[in-house]
Amino acid sequence: MSTIPRILLTACLLLAQTAVQALEYRYPRSSVDMQLRQVSPHVWFVQGTTGVATDNQGFISNTTVIIGDQGITVVDALGSPSLAEQLIAEIRRISDKPIVRVITTHYHADHIYGLQAFKERGARVIAPRGVDDYLDSPQAAERLEERRFSLDPWVNEQTRLVYPDEQIDGRKQIDDGTVKLTLDYLGKAHSDADLTVFVEPDRVFISGDVIFEGRVPFVGDSDSRVWLETLRRMADRKGVKALIPGHGGLARDPQQAIALTRDYLAFLRNQLGAGVEEMMGFDELYSSIDWSRFAALPAFEDANRINAYQVFLALERESLGE
Ligand SMILES: [Zn+2]
Repeated sequence: MSTIPRILLTACLLLAQTAVQALEYRYPRSSVDMQLRQVSPHVWFVQGTTGVATDNQGFISNTTVIIGDQGITVVDALGSPSLAEQLIAEIRRISDKPIVRVITTHYHADHIYGLQAFKERGARVIAPRGVDDYLDSPQAAERLEERRFSLDPWVNEQTRLVYPDEQIDGRKQIDDGTVKLTLDYLGKAHSDADLTVFVEPDRVFISGDVIFEGRVPFVGDSDSRVWLETLRRMADRKGVKALIPGHGGLARDPQQAIALTRDYLAFLRNQLGAGVEEMMGFDELYSSIDWSRFAALPAFEDANRINAYQVFLALERESLGE
């Protein structure tokens, strides 16, 4: 082969490689097991492991990918820019359409630290109203500082909090040809502000952390009373074919998935509420409760006692009429 065709051949090979590896990585490359699984004709999702926030390079939450006629919608952004880039690489295996928007179900670290990787590539960020209160709070800055330490190098000095381009506080519909999304603002349920997404014609419901499938939920500083009411309303939604929770597996039986989170919250409130009325101290109360119904669930050891304590404090405040 003469020199000129050889140069041409090399150039062609380089171009072909560039087309395949179009993604330019900007963050340390994560190496978790992350595979997009198809849920329905237009919907895929990746499932994080059930561990605590610093396990599995921070890949502990789920993300949904919806492919419309014009572009791609991502729901929740994972817990680091590196994980978000790994997801984008996975998306590129199934579609070359632009990622036009990221919808966040709520602003908790494990769902939002990946936002910048999407935003830098042109996606618009949509969030429930009120997340800027969180973003402007000292807690948001402290959490990021802590994760820069505990999740280094996946969360580091490059990681920043991303403000949404749009906040919704009611119902919003997005039409992308054959695919239609309905976003519903829930208010303060699991976090300070939550929303859900319903995808049609697939009839797939994306719940965020309002529903945890097959594991003990993380209650945190949520309002368990509002959360419980939200779940009761949600159980009335008919015709859902699949539910993608914020953590845990896909649920083909949404009613059952709702029931687990609902039963757990109701159990906490009932059992602890009785003790609060009798003015029992937390330690005594906690050890007097029979937890066996939930003890075998993933994340029980990590989450149950702290959940119980949070609900106990909330019930004390409620009993004082606050
Ligand atoms: Zn979460």
